[in-house]
Amino acid sequence: MTRRARKKPLFEPGLIPAPGGLLDWRSSQHFDRFESRPCALCDKPTRLRSHYGEPAHKACAESWIAANPTEARLGRFASDIQCKRRRDDDHA
Ligand SMILES: [Zn+2]
Repeated sequence: MTRRARKKPLFEPGLIPAPGGLLDWRSSQHFDRFESRPCALCDKPTRLRSHYGEPAHKACAESWIAANPTEARLGRFASDIQCKRRRDDDHA
């Protein structure tokens, strides 16, 4: 694996989903209104960006996490931070 220089995130990432889990990319900061760029994973244009500004479809990032669980833990793709109110409180 090539070691890329550790950049500061554009905005703060939250949790890394478990392999097979879904990313929570609700923040509008994931969306580039001005420019489509080739997805880092499938090469098709996308306006979505990871927390580090890497162009990637959410679905591609999710499959990448499932396919690369070890590398995924380094935090290339993470969900948004869940601040304050929790949407689904699963108290049994
Ligand atoms: Zn893609």
